[in-house]
Amino acid sequence: MSQIKGTIVPVTPLMQNCSVFWDDEAKLATVIDPGGDAPRIMELVETQGLIVEQILLTHGHFDHAGGVVALNRLVAEKQGAAVPVRGPHEKDAFLLEALARDGAAYGIPEAQPFTPDEWLDEGGTARIAGRDFAIYHCPGHSPGSLVYVDAEARFAIVGDVLFQGSIGRTDFPYGDHDALIAAIRTKLFPLGDDISFICGHGPGSSFGVERRSNPYAGDGA
Ligand SMILES: [Zn+2]
Ligand SMILES: [Zn+2]
Repeated sequence: MSQIKGTIVPVTPLMQNCSVFWDDEAKLATVIDPGGDAPRIMELVETQGLIVEQILLTHGHFDHAGGVVALNRLVAEKQGAAVPVRGPHEKDAFLLEALARDGAAYGIPEAQPFTPDEWLDEGGTARIAGRDFAIYHCPGHSPGSLVYVDAEARFAIVGDVLFQGSIGRTDFPYGDHDALIAAIRTKLFPLGDDISFICGHGPGSSFGVERRSNPYAGDGA
């Protein structure tokens, strides 16, 4: 069986963890949350000899989606065609529409609005580097936040839903603190303590460590 490989490219002034996963044999790559710095992401793609297969999003915030149009333009130049953009949940459409405004305000001037080729939703699966990830809708930080879980590999990509020792901020007009806590507790933690995750900012962790010690969503909160 071929190996899945991945790496994190911190992008944007917010040091967002853009991640790239690929199948070691086919070298087909999924770029997750290219918030900006598209040339740096393409540099990795070229260094590793990868073919970008799709762009996948956890949610619609500018630091995660602001580089999608620029990256896809570079992909089209190199590969001859742009690739499909999948996710987030359709409830984040208003954030994708506001990308030019929000990007300009927060130091990602290249951010441009777009409509994904496919909205995703809970119950479906996302194919990443040849593996199937189950999709969970975890609103609260944004209405359309999605979490991708490879149950077999015990690995999750959680975006800004959950962090090591913290949770996504909910102080937006559309934020919902209670919904976020409920999603973490009823959808993510029951999947198992041994699931490790990468998140949108800072180091990753595991559901078990966060269930035991997270001051916002853990057992003691
Ligand atoms: Zn966010
Ligand atoms: Zn973020």
